[in-house]
Amino acid sequence: MDKAEYIHVDRVSKTFETPLTSVVALNQITFMVARNEFVSIIGPSGCGKSTLLRLVAGLVSPSEGRITVGGRAPEESRRSREYGFVFQDPVMLPWRSVRDNVELALEVMEVEKAVRRQTAAEFIHLVGLAGFEEMRPGQLSGGMRQRAALARALTMKPQLLLMDEPFGALDEITRAQMNAELLNILAQQDLTVLLVTHSIEEAVFLSDRVVVLTPRPAEIREILEIDLPRPRHRSLKKSNLFFEYVSALRNALEFEQKPAAARM
Ligand code: ADP
Ligand code: MG
Repeated sequence: MDKAEYIHVDRVSKTFETPLTSVVALNQITFMVARNEFVSIIGPSGCGKSTLLRLVAGLVSPSEGRITVGGRAPEESRRSREYGFVFQDPVMLPWRSVRDNVELALEVMEVEKAVRRQTAAEFIHLVGLAGFEEMRPGQLSGGMRQRAALARALTMKPQLLLMDEPFGALDEITRAQMNAELLNILAQQDLTVLLVTHSIEEAVFLSDRVVVLTPRPAEIREILEIDLPRPRHRSLKKSNLFFEYVSALRNALEFEQKPAAARM
């Protein structure tokens, strides 16, 4: 590998034990992510995508196997504030303005007010929310709320951005617009991204590589390299090459599991 390995997920399995049953969510997952790479995780609903992201985040521990982020345990990297998080439903305090919501992460870190203001202003501008600072989350569209959530995550200057279906609740047109803008925003940052999505188009458009998971218990079905040039613009989606990647990814997802005997 010519690029430095940053995330290493090594033969990781995860079983959730509940009083009545145990649920195997992940089975023997192995992949690596290089610094500044954009990797998406895609797979059927309930297969274990969020669990995998939470493992990398250090929010849950593997039952088997090992994960390192920058050579350290994920909990350690999280504690040293290496991560930014963006989830499907952004956690916004409804009584606070956009500006104060974006400042929230810095406030928790007890960063002084003037620095908070300036950093928040910088990222509000970057995500295209300049002029909306005084609005409350309830007055924003879903897309605008996600921009605010992204701005807040970026104020922490993370090295790794972990996103779990961040655009899943948006209509298709807004989503495509947010995808294109996300790439513009990220082009100005020194960031590695791990994104969970169930959108084939989104995964192809954004990613350097796509990790395709099987139905639960999730195993890796395929890791698809997306060799499309950057910078990527929305017009790319009309190209034959883009269409070919979308088809390849769809095939990987629709792959029929053969009976065990037929696999030998
Ligand atoms: P996805 O994000 O792909 O939709 P999840 O990772 O959320 O899937 O869940 C995978 C499986 O693990 C599901 O069957 C889910 O019910 C189970 N699961 C996830 N978190 C827990 C938990 N904390 N306790 C018990 N089971 C869980
Ligand atoms: Mg999920």
